[in-house]
Amino acid sequence: MADIIQLLPDHVANQIAAGEVVQRPASVVKELLENAIDAGASTIKLIIKDAGKTLIQVIDNGKGMSVTDARLSFERHATSKIRNAEDLFQLHTKGFRGEALASIAAIAHVELKTKQEQDDVGTSIVIEGSNVVSQDVVVTPKGTSVSVKNLFYNIPARRNFLKSNAVELRHIIDEFHRVALAHCDLGFALYNNGSETFNLPVSNYRQRIVNIFGTKTNEKLVPVEEDTEVLKISGFVGKPEYAKKTRGEQYFFVNNRFIKSAYLNHAIASAFEGLLKSGTHASYFLNLSVDPQTIDINIHPTKTEIKFDDEHTLYALLRSAVKHSLGQFNIAPVLDFERDASLDTPYDLKGKHTSAPTIEIDRTFNPFKDEVEPVQSKSFSSPSSGGASYKKQQTANWESLYVGLESKSNDFETETDFSEVQFESEETNASIFEDDSAVEQVNTTYQLHNKYIVSTIKSGMLLIDQHRAHQRILYEDFLKNITIKEAVSQQLLFPLQLHFSVQEIQILKQLKDDLEHTGFVFSNVLEEAVEITGVPVSVPESEVSIILEQLISDVENEVPDAHFSAADLLAKSMAKSLAIKTGQGLKKDEQEHLVNKLFACKEPNVTPTNKITFITMSVDELDKKFI
Ligand code: ADP
Ligand code: MG
Repeated sequence: MADIIQLLPDHVANQIAAGEVVQRPASVVKELLENAIDAGASTIKLIIKDAGKTLIQVIDNGKGMSVTDARLSFERHATSKIRNAEDLFQLHTKGFRGEALASIAAIAHVELKTKQEQDDVGTSIVIEGSNVVSQDVVVTPKGTSVSVKNLFYNIPARRNFLKSNAVELRHIIDEFHRVALAHCDLGFALYNNGSETFNLPVSNYRQRIVNIFGTKTNEKLVPVEEDTEVLKISGFVGKPEYAKKTRGEQYFFVNNRFIKSAYLNHAIASAFEGLLKSGTHASYFLNLSVDPQTIDINIHPTKTEIKFDDEHTLYALLRSAVKHSLGQFNIAPVLDFERDASLDTPYDLKGKHTSAPTIEIDRTFNPFKDEVEPVQSKSFSSPSSGGASYKKQQTANWESLYVGLESKSNDFETETDFSEVQFESEETNASIFEDDSAVEQVNTTYQLHNKYIVSTIKSGMLLIDQHRAHQRILYEDFLKNITIKEAVSQQLLFPLQLHFSVQEIQILKQLKDDLEHTGFVFSNVLEEAVEITGVPVSVPESEVSIILEQLISDVENEVPDAHFSAADLLAKSMAKSLAIKTGQGLKKDEQEHLVNKLFACKEPNVTPTNKITFITMSVDELDKKFI
């Protein structure tokens, strides 16, 4: 029997290959934009007509091609980007398969114009369905222009398969965004049917995002930055309250290449856990830089999927970097979306620590009194709060926050910055406030200008802003009290009558329940006055009117919105009024207590209004200053 196997003619082979590379106009856009970037262009123009069905043109000012290269570029497996198999593992270019131009030329009318800087004239080549129609010498600027007309003209089935112009244009714009986001150091423009749709000048990453997605985007972005040996992460995540119903604005770039990864997407989703309204998706724009040797881009013809050597590590690093950023920018407490805002506080304790039903709150200890009073712990459980319970941070417990962060119950373990922070005298610190005699042994704090508390930590030095730190401590205390509704009140000898306007009384009425949970007792609320018979233990009688006035003005200025409950505002306001001020001298034990209380907080690193409470300086950083 005669032999039957034949080699396919080139144009047929190219058409088959084209089916893999070019699914729709947007695929052509991607390939051409990537070629322009690989050619070292600094500005790239994309011109589209009829959603790419009539014309896709990319004009770059890159290095151009010689006559021979121009001709060769349309051959299948013709590439200037890799020479041997080893190069596949060292990729620094977008393309490397040498298939794109050959594939595109097999299924469209293509015109290439290109010129290298040193040449006076350039080359023009016209190819239709893999056949070279003409090749000429032309006058053309430095760089390359590729026009692709009548895509799929010779494959009617594919052409008919294309979606409406609106849909195809959407795909093109998506592709354009991806490339433009991956290269904010290059200028891009997109012209659609003769009008300029995007003009993206060279800028920083934030500006590029804003230029693409609109000025309002700016306020939504939370920066993410992480630099480790295996992975460098930079970019932004969107604040949870701006999360979208669609997955639109989710971008991963690995070594400046847009990729899709369900696995890494999951890492982000889990960093946002508990912060998103169900059915919404966080936006992100994240650039990951890894050693090209540790990834394999070759697994997919369109190269949006990638294989990492060590996915688990990337997952963990990514998740923790994002969590850290959300924590640092105090995004984490914004929790209430659809629940009753009045029930909700950032530290809604429902369902937390259910295995530890005791509540031990030290209500009598006042660190800012002259003498250190013996600590009296009051223990009670809280049946009314339906399993909600709060266990006071044991003094022995807080140190675990500094040491490797083993304490699983602390939600902020990856949000805070002190993973290497270790207190020097853990042993003695552990008992400072239970045992007076220990106080003398501890000598790790120092007050600077009655403003900062300096403390030694294993990695170096800790500098705490006393006023801000105390705000954080009081804020969490008040919130706890409001949530568990068990605050202890201090009876006043004589009822206090305070006068307010009718409108102010309205505001106080709204806050009355929450105020009572912090320890206020209102015996009478009149039209223009209130009578108070009890105040929270921590509030001196002389401050009551100031606190309430401050609170009213806070409410007026910052009407509690959907994200913050009245309880939260109340706690913030009272914390602000009552926090020790800058300029107040603190004794050693008061300083120590402040430090300990701060780090027993859920979010010690910022005040309730988002200002940082402390900074650390490592010995390394200090060493550098002494060079
Ligand atoms: P690949 O990008 O995988 O190498 P292509 O088919 O996309 O394959 O391009 C083939 C070759 O043509 C490239 O390797 C490059 O040398 C050259 N080339 C393509 N586009 C351009 C351009 N815009 N500027 C300069 N050279 C280009
Ligand atoms: Mg290419």
